[in-house]
Amino acid sequence: MHPFTFNRASSTDQAVKWGAAPNVRFIAGGTTLTDLMKLGVEHPTQVVDINRLPLAEVERTPEGGLKVGALVRNSDLAWHLAVKQGYPVLSEALLAGASGQLRNMATTGGNLLQRTRCMYFRDNLSPCNKREPGTGCAAIGGANRTLAIFGTSEHCIATNPSDMNVALVALGAQVHIQGNHGSRVVPVGEFFLLPGSTPQVETVLQPGELITHVALPPPLEGAKSGYLKLRDRASYEFALASAAVVLQIDGGRVRQARVALGGVGTLPWRSPAAEQALVGAPASAATWRAAAEAAVRGAKAQSENGFKIELAKRCVAQQLATVAARV
Ligand code: SF4
Repeated sequence: MHPFTFNRASSTDQAVKWGAAPNVRFIAGGTTLTDLMKLGVEHPTQVVDINRLPLAEVERTPEGGLKVGALVRNSDLAWHLAVKQGYPVLSEALLAGASGQLRNMATTGGNLLQRTRCMYFRDNLSPCNKREPGTGCAAIGGANRTLAIFGTSEHCIATNPSDMNVALVALGAQVHIQGNHGSRVVPVGEFFLLPGSTPQVETVLQPGELITHVALPPPLEGAKSGYLKLRDRASYEFALASAAVVLQIDGGRVRQARVALGGVGTLPWRSPAAEQALVGAPASAATWRAAAEAAVRGAKAQSENGFKIELAKRCVAQQLATVAARV
């Protein structure tokens, strides 16, 4: 591991001030950063511990939504009563991620910034534009069974690995950010960046900016939601395909719908085409199938992951039927 200095911030202002220096990383749960530092993929010169900042609360907002502090642990958020009752899709997505021990450490802010599990990214001997810009992409034409079919570029085809992020996109969450020059709010759907020719830049965060909390809008009245994750084994595994669904059904017809896919996109992949196929249509198996077809339109398979197109389609159709049947 490369040598680095370690400082513990006692206020958000202090953290963002320290964070503005070159090559600084914030650490909270450390479930991604520590691994990557040991592997030599990340080599910050300074690590700022933010665990003492007052960002570990879940609070109701005046509008009836939720304010989730960046340091709220994934387990605490998944089992929080307001989340279980108002945002089942988020609770289910969190519980589908990693292992119990990791969920006890991992935080909301850290999960938003989870790095890809593309194996070449973690192997310093392989070309990887995300780890070392300009070196190439070993996954294109290489081992890409688990990688993306949406949002890829000729420079990177890595998936965003998070389950939580898929649920946040389906829910229309907002990310609150603080930097040295003030605060800003970014809809989660605009927080992640496509790889394009700069896959090393994954989000809109500027150097030194810190996620302070995530805001969830009030739950849609009468809406039902849920998350389905398909993977090679039943636990402690990343998604091959997943679907986060929010449905509001009235008089046998879909009034509002939000659909996002995980495990298939270079970012958590919302599907406006699927939502369009749902809104106004009867709540029926034919509608779920039509929406699932729409969800995978435009997918681009790599040499080993063509199966994901059918898998994602079935995942969306299955989860729409499951959520619609919930009482
Ligand atoms: Fe690196 Fe992205 Fe290619 Fe994987 S897919 S090797 S992360 S550039």
